[in-house]
Amino acid sequence: MNTRVTSTGTPPANVLLEVSHLTKHYPVRKGVFSQVSGQVHAVDDVSFWIAEGETLGLVGESGCGKSTTGKTILKLIDPTAGTIDWRGHRIDQLSGTGMRPYRRELQAVFQDPYSSLNPRMRAADIVAEPIRNFESAAVGEIDERVASLFEKVGLRPDQMVKYPYEFSGGQRQRLGIARALAPRPKLIVCDEPVSALDVSVQAQVINLLMDLQDELGLSYLFVAHDLAVVEHISHRVAVMYLGKIVELTDKRSLFTNPQHPYTEALLSAVPVPDPKIQRKQVILLGDVPSPINPPPGCRFHTRCPYAEERCRVEEPAMKQVRPGHFVACHLRDGSAAAPRAKTV
Ligand code: SF4
Repeated sequence: MNTRVTSTGTPPANVLLEVSHLTKHYPVRKGVFSQVSGQVHAVDDVSFWIAEGETLGLVGESGCGKSTTGKTILKLIDPTAGTIDWRGHRIDQLSGTGMRPYRRELQAVFQDPYSSLNPRMRAADIVAEPIRNFESAAVGEIDERVASLFEKVGLRPDQMVKYPYEFSGGQRQRLGIARALAPRPKLIVCDEPVSALDVSVQAQVINLLMDLQDELGLSYLFVAHDLAVVEHISHRVAVMYLGKIVELTDKRSLFTNPQHPYTEALLSAVPVPDPKIQRKQVILLGDVPSPINPPPGCRFHTRCPYAEERCRVEEPAMKQVRPGHFVACHLRDGSAAAPRAKTV
């Protein structure tokens, strides 16, 4: 039995990915000698885990660090600090060659299907490429697997000879999903996979991802800014603000009883599909601060309706307020009810 305790609880025995204190800073350079004048705090001290067959939604405003977190886990960029454990092996310090045994198990689907597929390759070759890269399969076997993947993602066999520009946006994203599935991954980082698609197509792609998860036992890190989409697909949700996770819990707890003022404000902006239900809107004042010089104390204090003196100087630690529900806010001690902000 797994008895380790992290800042976001005890990972289950079937944990795949464990991220601890992950940090990514980018130097800001100025002047003719490109001297480092500061650091962009893109991701700061982020911790979470993902189990087999689970979807963790990672949500927050643009620029909060969620996509950087996904890219760091994929080792497309190197972390500044922290650890990434993949099925019990530390991968954060591995180079390209060292990462090779793990690459096929960690795949990605990106936001823009127009630019994430090679425009000069036929669809069948796009899907076959990762199989050729990672396996020494015979040509006939590769062709069979590609055909089966096309069927699995809802594309027709006659589309295998087409080029990406001949597909619609939704079909291109299906092609991107087929490519991600090709090396038989265990976890797929989905980075805003539906935000470039028409609303009518978004639901089809989300449902496809959920069906594939049921069929193949996949895990997803689902990065998105759209809370309604995250609610539909996720088992647990982590909310990010200015490079930090401020709340992490199961989907039901987050959407029915948010504990962090920022989550409360985000949820209040989600339209309710029932005209009889009026959701009170929480107005956040002020702008999102720059990640180059994030505010001291709680990073949300410049916009938080409950901010007090302590919030300006002391950074809140992540605390468990009820089983499986973690919040970084000084107002939380595990017993208080969720505060209600000024509403309109
Ligand atoms: Fe608001 Fe203070 Fe909680 Fe930060 S710690 S969210 S400023 S109440």
